[in-house]
Amino acid sequence: MILKEKSKAIGILKKVYHHANTDYETQYDGIVGYKTDFLSQEQWNILKENNLIPNKIEKWTHDDFINSFLKLKENKKLTLEFSKALFLKGITGDFPRYRQTLISFLYLQKVEEHTYIASKKYSGCAICGLPESTTEDSTHNLFTYYLGHSWNESPKHFAAELEDILQYPKPEIYEKDKELLVKLLLSIDDSDKNETPGQLEKRIAKEKLLPKTDKYKRYGILQTLAILGILPSNAEFDNQPARSDIVLPLAGWRGELGVDFQKAIEIFELKVPKKGV
Ligand SMILES: [Zn+2]
Repeated sequence: MILKEKSKAIGILKKVYHHANTDYETQYDGIVGYKTDFLSQEQWNILKENNLIPNKIEKWTHDDFINSFLKLKENKKLTLEFSKALFLKGITGDFPRYRQTLISFLYLQKVEEHTYIASKKYSGCAICGLPESTTEDSTHNLFTYYLGHSWNESPKHFAAELEDILQYPKPEIYEKDKELLVKLLLSIDDSDKNETPGQLEKRIAKEKLLPKTDKYKRYGILQTLAILGILPSNAEFDNQPARSDIVLPLAGWRGELGVDFQKAIEIFELKVPKKGV
């Protein structure tokens, strides 16, 4: 299994990308590097074989990103079916790395060729949200995905993420994988009408429904469901005091909006017991 071999590389990266291991001397364009002088030759080889060399600090322009995305859009392997199967396997905890791809894929579908237009409201392009230019450590970004995080705020990380995921086969999905999602949705639907996304996360944590997650990883999974419209969102709720570490569309969910089971059934071909429908 490819991911088993990769876990060695991730174990090494955990030692490198550690807050106590920053190396201000390799700082480049505002990005802080990490010390690697303690790595053995064998550890270097493992990282190299897995294409996960630390401090892979590179400059990207808006157009670099757009070109990468347009190329990815033509890739026949990168389909909705592939991305959905990855997500289902990601939430079971078997393959936490698989959680991000569905968000990246849905973003990718909207990317069209265009030139940068500065947004008046926020920093970045008014059309696609990407920065005009940025410096990134793509291995560090991939590392967070390997730990099981997923985010919708940083499309500048999605191109490297999608390129990385192409090395994995489409996972086989069994009924029990889907049952976990059904359990999660039924639990979400059980909320009080005023429940906020932050309170929802805490409740799910208590119920121990999602293996290999922490608070932020659970936000990532819930955010994916919100992007799909399975957790309906009302942007007005975003203006009410909510947690600042939760962004739209998840920030616009409240208990009274519940779960759109019809949508969930259509997207993931779920079998939901009567109660939910
Ligand atoms: Zn743009």
